[in-house]
Amino acid sequence: MDRLVVIGNGMAGVCAIEEMLKIKARTAITVFGEERHVNYNRVLLSEVLAGNRQKTEIYLNPKKWYEENGIDLRLDLRVERIDPSAKTVTDGLGAVTRYDHLLIAVGGRPIIPPLPGIHRPGVHIFRSLDDTERIAGHARIAREAVIIGGGLLGLEAARALMKHGLAVTVIHLGEWLMEQQLDRMSGNLLKREVERFGIGVLVGARATEILGNEAVRAVRLSSGRELSADLIRHLHGNPSQPGARPGRRNPDREGHYGQ
Ligand SMILES: Cc1cc2nc3c(=O)[nH]c(=O)nc-3n(C[C@H](O)[C@H](O)[C@H](O)COP(=O)(O)OP(=O)(O)OC[C@H]3O[C@@H](n4cnc5c(N)ncnc54)[C@H](O)[C@@H]3O)c2cc1C
Repeated sequence: MDRLVVIGNGMAGVCAIEEMLKIKARTAITVFGEERHVNYNRVLLSEVLAGNRQKTEIYLNPKKWYEENGIDLRLDLRVERIDPSAKTVTDGLGAVTRYDHLLIAVGGRPIIPPLPGIHRPGVHIFRSLDDTERIAGHARIAREAVIIGGGLLGLEAARALMKHGLAVTVIHLGEWLMEQQLDRMSGNLLKREVERFGIGVLVGARATEILGNEAVRAVRLSSGRELSADLIRHLHGNPSQPGARPGRRNPDREGHYGQ
Protein backbone atom coordinates (compact mmCIF):
# COMPACT_ATOMS: atom_id res chain seq x y z
CA MET A 1 0.00 0.00 0.00
CA ASP A 2 1.29 3.49 -0.87
CA ARG A 3 2.03 5.90 1.96
CA LEU A 4 0.80 9.46 1.76
CA VAL A 5 2.15 12.06 4.16
CA VAL A 6 0.23 15.32 4.45
CA ILE A 7 1.99 18.28 6.05
CA GLY A 8 -0.67 20.63 7.38
CA ASN A 9 -3.92 19.64 9.06
CA GLY A 10 -5.85 22.67 7.75
CA MET A 11 -8.86 22.90 5.49
CA ALA A 12 -6.92 22.35 2.25
CA GLY A 13 -4.97 19.31 3.44
CA VAL A 14 -7.99 17.60 4.96
CA CYS A 15 -10.22 18.44 2.00
CA ALA A 16 -7.72 16.66 -0.27
CA ILE A 17 -7.84 13.63 2.03
CA GLU A 18 -11.65 13.64 1.97
CA GLU A 19 -11.56 13.52 -1.83
CA MET A 20 -9.09 10.63 -1.74
CA LEU A 21 -11.31 8.73 0.65
CA LYS A 22 -14.23 9.19 -1.75
CA ILE A 23 -12.36 7.41 -4.52
CA LYS A 24 -11.26 4.76 -2.03
CA ALA A 25 -7.59 5.18 -2.86
CA ARG A 26 -5.55 2.36 -1.30
CA THR A 27 -3.21 4.61 0.61
CA ALA A 28 -1.99 4.74 4.20
CA ILE A 29 -2.35 8.35 5.29
CA THR A 30 -0.34 10.23 7.91
CA VAL A 31 -1.16 13.87 8.71
CA PHE A 32 1.13 16.23 10.57
CA GLY A 33 -0.54 19.23 12.21
CA GLU A 34 1.58 21.86 13.88
CA GLU A 35 -1.45 23.03 15.82
CA ARG A 36 -2.88 20.95 18.64
CA HIS A 37 -6.43 20.99 17.26
CA VAL A 38 -8.22 18.78 14.78
CA ASN A 39 -9.08 20.43 11.46
CA TYR A 40 -11.24 23.49 12.09
CA ASN A 41 -12.87 26.25 10.06
CA ARG A 42 -10.39 29.11 10.27
CA VAL A 43 -12.84 31.49 8.58
CA LEU A 44 -15.01 31.35 11.73
CA LEU A 45 -12.31 32.40 14.20
CA SER A 46 -13.84 35.86 14.61
CA GLU A 47 -17.04 34.17 15.75
CA VAL A 48 -15.09 32.34 18.44
CA LEU A 49 -13.31 35.57 19.38
CA ALA A 50 -16.66 37.33 19.72
CA GLY A 51 -17.92 34.51 21.94
CA ASN A 52 -20.67 33.62 19.48
CA ARG A 53 -19.35 30.08 19.04
CA GLN A 54 -17.37 27.56 21.07
CA LYS A 55 -14.20 26.22 19.51
CA THR A 56 -15.74 22.75 19.21
CA GLU A 57 -18.47 24.26 17.02
CA ILE A 58 -15.91 25.18 14.38
CA TYR A 59 -14.21 21.79 14.36
CA LEU A 60 -14.71 20.25 10.91
CA ASN A 61 -13.33 16.77 11.47
CA PRO A 62 -13.48 15.35 14.98
CA LYS A 63 -10.78 12.90 16.18
CA LYS A 64 -13.24 10.08 15.52
CA TRP A 65 -13.25 10.90 11.81
CA TYR A 66 -9.50 10.40 11.57
CA GLU A 67 -9.75 7.15 13.56
CA GLU A 68 -12.64 5.79 11.51
CA ASN A 69 -10.74 6.47 8.30
CA GLY A 70 -7.53 4.91 9.57
CA ILE A 71 -5.63 8.20 9.39
CA ASP A 72 -2.52 8.47 11.49
CA LEU A 73 -2.97 11.95 12.96
CA ARG A 74 0.06 13.56 14.54
CA LEU A 75 -1.04 16.75 16.20
CA ASP A 76 1.07 19.41 17.86
CA LEU A 77 3.93 18.21 15.73
CA ARG A 78 5.68 20.20 13.08
CA VAL A 79 7.52 18.77 10.10
CA GLU A 80 10.95 20.33 10.17
CA ARG A 81 12.64 18.78 7.19
CA ILE A 82 11.84 17.06 3.92
CA ASP A 83 14.36 14.83 2.23
CA PRO A 84 12.99 14.33 -1.29
CA SER A 85 15.72 11.92 -2.37
CA ALA A 86 15.14 9.59 0.59
CA LYS A 87 11.38 10.38 0.49
CA THR A 88 11.24 11.09 4.19
CA VAL A 89 10.08 13.85 6.49
CA THR A 90 11.60 14.60 9.89
CA ASP A 91 9.33 15.97 12.58
CA GLY A 92 10.05 18.18 15.56
CA LEU A 93 10.71 15.15 17.76
CA GLY A 94 13.37 13.94 15.34
CA ALA A 95 11.31 10.99 14.11
CA VAL A 96 11.63 10.15 10.43
CA THR A 97 8.55 9.12 8.42
CA ARG A 98 8.77 7.65 4.95
CA TYR A 99 6.37 8.52 2.18
CA ASP A 100 5.59 7.57 -1.39
CA HIS A 101 3.53 10.72 -1.93
CA LEU A 102 3.86 14.00 -0.09
CA LEU A 103 1.23 16.74 0.10
CA ILE A 104 2.37 20.09 1.44
CA ALA A 105 -0.67 22.07 2.61
CA VAL A 106 0.87 24.44 5.13
CA GLY A 107 -1.27 27.52 4.45
CA GLY A 108 0.03 31.02 5.08
CA ARG A 109 1.46 33.22 7.77
CA PRO A 110 0.80 36.85 8.55
CA ILE A 111 3.69 39.17 7.88
CA ILE A 112 5.06 40.55 11.12
CA PRO A 113 5.88 44.23 10.57
CA PRO A 114 9.35 45.04 11.90
CA LEU A 115 8.09 47.67 14.36
CA PRO A 116 10.00 48.44 17.52
CA GLY A 117 8.08 46.86 20.39
CA ILE A 118 6.11 44.44 18.20
CA HIS A 119 7.14 41.51 20.42
CA ARG A 120 5.88 43.04 23.66
CA PRO A 121 3.35 40.99 25.61
CA GLY A 122 -0.09 42.25 24.66
CA VAL A 123 0.58 42.34 20.92
CA HIS A 124 -1.17 39.49 19.18
CA ILE A 125 -1.34 38.01 15.75
CA PHE A 126 -4.68 36.53 14.71
CA ARG A 127 -4.29 33.40 12.70
CA SER A 128 -5.05 30.30 14.72
CA LEU A 129 -7.47 28.97 17.29
CA ASP A 130 -4.77 29.29 19.94
CA ASP A 131 -4.23 32.96 18.94
CA THR A 132 -7.98 33.47 19.25
CA GLU A 133 -8.16 31.97 22.73
CA ARG A 134 -5.15 34.00 23.80
CA ILE A 135 -6.70 37.26 22.55
CA ALA A 136 -10.09 36.43 24.13
CA GLY A 137 -8.33 35.72 27.44
CA HIS A 138 -6.46 39.01 27.28
CA ALA A 139 -9.62 40.88 26.28
CA ARG A 140 -11.15 39.94 29.64
CA ILE A 141 -8.63 42.16 31.43
CA ALA A 142 -7.89 44.78 28.75
CA ARG A 143 -9.75 48.04 28.23
CA GLU A 144 -8.45 49.59 25.02
CA ALA A 145 -7.53 47.76 21.84
CA VAL A 146 -5.81 48.97 18.72
CA ILE A 147 -6.15 46.92 15.58
CA ILE A 148 -3.41 47.46 13.04
CA GLY A 149 -4.89 46.77 9.62
CA GLY A 150 -8.38 47.70 8.45
CA GLY A 151 -9.01 44.83 6.06
CA LEU A 152 -11.81 42.33 6.51
CA LEU A 153 -10.06 40.38 9.27
CA GLY A 154 -9.13 43.56 11.13
CA LEU A 155 -12.71 44.79 11.05
CA GLU A 156 -14.07 41.40 12.12
CA ALA A 157 -11.65 41.37 15.04
CA ALA A 158 -12.58 44.96 15.96
CA ARG A 159 -16.25 44.04 16.17
CA ALA A 160 -15.44 40.90 18.18
CA LEU A 161 -13.33 42.85 20.67
CA MET A 162 -16.06 45.45 21.03
CA LYS A 163 -18.33 42.66 22.17
CA HIS A 164 -15.84 42.11 25.00
CA GLY A 165 -16.48 45.70 26.06
CA LEU A 166 -13.17 47.16 24.87
CA ALA A 167 -12.76 50.59 23.31
CA VAL A 168 -11.43 49.72 19.87
CA THR A 169 -9.55 51.79 17.30
CA VAL A 170 -8.59 50.47 13.88
CA ILE A 171 -5.60 52.06 12.21
CA HIS A 172 -5.21 51.53 8.54
CA LEU A 173 -2.41 52.52 6.22
CA GLY A 174 -4.57 52.84 3.11
CA GLU A 175 -6.52 55.96 2.26
CA TRP A 176 -9.79 54.14 2.84
CA LEU A 177 -10.87 50.84 4.42
CA MET A 178 -10.53 47.62 2.43
CA GLU A 179 -8.99 49.54 -0.45
CA GLN A 180 -8.16 46.31 -2.24
CA GLN A 181 -11.82 45.35 -2.44
CA LEU A 182 -13.66 48.69 -2.36
CA ASP A 183 -13.42 51.99 -4.20
CA ARG A 184 -12.95 55.19 -2.26
CA MET A 185 -16.63 56.02 -1.94
CA SER A 186 -17.58 52.54 -0.69
CA GLY A 187 -14.59 52.52 1.67
CA ASN A 188 -15.70 55.84 3.15
CA LEU A 189 -19.25 54.56 3.55
CA LEU A 190 -17.91 51.49 5.31
CA LYS A 191 -15.83 53.69 7.62
CA ARG A 192 -18.94 55.62 8.60
CA GLU A 193 -20.82 52.36 9.30
CA VAL A 194 -17.94 50.99 11.38
CA GLU A 195 -17.75 54.24 13.34
CA ARG A 196 -21.50 54.06 13.90
CA PHE A 197 -20.86 50.82 15.82
CA GLY A 198 -18.60 52.82 18.10
CA ILE A 199 -15.28 51.68 16.62
CA GLY A 200 -12.68 54.39 16.02
CA VAL A 201 -11.12 54.35 12.55
CA LEU A 202 -7.97 56.16 11.43
CA VAL A 203 -7.12 55.82 7.76
CA GLY A 204 -3.83 56.85 6.19
CA ALA A 205 -2.27 56.09 9.56
CA ARG A 206 1.06 54.31 9.95
CA ALA A 207 2.07 52.66 13.21
CA THR A 208 5.76 53.27 13.86
CA GLU A 209 6.30 51.89 17.35
CA ILE A 210 4.62 49.87 20.07
CA LEU A 211 5.27 51.62 23.36
CA GLY A 212 5.38 50.15 26.85
CA ASN A 213 7.68 48.55 29.35
CA GLU A 214 6.74 45.01 30.30
CA ALA A 215 3.37 45.19 28.58
CA VAL A 216 2.07 47.44 25.82
CA ARG A 217 0.89 50.92 26.69
CA ALA A 218 0.31 52.66 23.37
CA VAL A 219 0.88 52.68 19.64
CA ARG A 220 2.83 55.59 18.18
CA LEU A 221 1.85 56.76 14.71
CA SER A 222 4.07 58.44 12.12
CA SER A 223 2.18 61.68 12.83
CA GLY A 224 3.60 61.53 16.38
CA ARG A 225 0.18 60.83 17.86
CA GLU A 226 0.02 58.11 20.52
CA LEU A 227 -3.01 55.87 20.91
CA SER A 228 -3.20 54.28 24.33
CA ALA A 229 -3.84 50.55 24.23
CA ASP A 230 -3.33 47.54 26.44
CA LEU A 231 -4.22 45.07 23.71
CA ILE A 232 -2.94 45.32 20.17
CA ARG A 233 -3.95 42.97 17.45
CA HIS A 234 -2.15 43.31 14.23
CA LEU A 235 -2.75 41.86 10.90
CA HIS A 236 -0.37 43.22 8.43
CA GLY A 237 0.20 42.14 4.91
CA ASN A 238 -1.30 39.13 3.26
CA PRO A 239 -2.47 36.39 5.60
CA SER A 240 -2.16 33.85 2.86
CA GLN A 241 1.46 34.64 2.21
CA PRO A 242 3.17 31.26 2.07
CA GLY A 243 5.51 31.10 4.98
CA ALA A 244 4.99 28.01 7.02
CA ARG A 245 7.16 25.83 4.88
CA PRO A 246 9.10 23.23 6.75
CA GLY A 247 12.42 24.64 7.80
CA ARG A 248 11.13 28.18 7.92
CA ARG A 249 10.84 30.05 11.18
CA ASN A 250 7.39 30.10 12.72
CA PRO A 251 5.91 31.81 15.76
CA ASP A 252 6.23 30.17 19.13
CA ARG A 253 3.26 29.26 21.34
CA GLU A 254 2.93 32.89 22.39
CA GLY A 255 2.67 33.96 18.77
CA HIS A 256 6.15 35.50 18.83
CA TYR A 257 8.70 35.05 16.11
CA GLY A 258 11.63 35.97 18.31
CA GLN A 259 13.86 38.94 17.68
C1 LIG B 1 -9.42 35.08 11.15
C2 LIG B 1 -9.43 34.61 9.73
C3 LIG B 1 -10.57 34.80 8.95
C4 LIG B 1 -10.58 34.40 7.61
N1 LIG B 1 -11.70 34.62 6.88
C5 LIG B 1 -11.73 34.22 5.59
C6 LIG B 1 -12.90 34.41 4.79
O1 LIG B 1 -13.89 34.97 5.26
N2 LIG B 1 -12.88 33.97 3.51
C7 LIG B 1 -11.78 33.33 2.98
O2 LIG B 1 -11.81 32.92 1.82
N3 LIG B 1 -10.67 33.14 3.70
C8 LIG B 1 -10.61 33.57 5.00
N4 LIG B 1 -9.48 33.38 5.71
C9 LIG B 1 -8.33 32.70 5.09
C10 LIG B 1 -8.53 31.18 5.16
O3 LIG B 1 -8.72 30.81 6.49
C11 LIG B 1 -7.31 30.49 4.58
O4 LIG B 1 -7.22 30.85 3.22
C12 LIG B 1 -7.44 28.98 4.72
O5 LIG B 1 -7.48 28.63 6.08
C13 LIG B 1 -6.28 28.29 4.04
O6 LIG B 1 -6.39 26.91 4.29
P1 LIG B 1 -5.11 25.99 4.25
O7 LIG B 1 -5.52 24.62 4.66
O8 LIG B 1 -4.42 26.18 2.95
O9 LIG B 1 -4.11 26.62 5.33
P2 LIG B 1 -4.27 26.76 6.89
O10 LIG B 1 -5.68 26.91 7.29
O11 LIG B 1 -3.29 27.81 7.28
O12 LIG B 1 -3.74 25.34 7.45
C14 LIG B 1 -2.40 24.95 7.33
C15 LIG B 1 -2.03 24.18 8.58
O13 LIG B 1 -0.72 23.66 8.39
C16 LIG B 1 -0.03 23.78 9.61
N5 LIG B 1 1.41 23.75 9.33
C17 LIG B 1 2.16 24.74 8.78
N6 LIG B 1 3.43 24.34 8.67
C18 LIG B 1 3.49 23.08 9.17
C19 LIG B 1 4.55 22.15 9.33
N7 LIG B 1 5.80 22.40 8.92
N8 LIG B 1 4.27 20.94 9.91
C20 LIG B 1 2.99 20.64 10.30
N9 LIG B 1 1.95 21.50 10.16
C21 LIG B 1 2.21 22.69 9.59
C22 LIG B 1 -0.49 25.12 10.14
O14 LIG B 1 -0.22 25.23 11.53
C23 LIG B 1 -1.98 25.04 9.82
O15 LIG B 1 -2.69 24.42 10.87
C24 LIG B 1 -9.43 33.79 7.05
C25 LIG B 1 -8.28 33.60 7.83
C26 LIG B 1 -8.28 34.01 9.16
C27 LIG B 1 -7.03 33.82 9.97
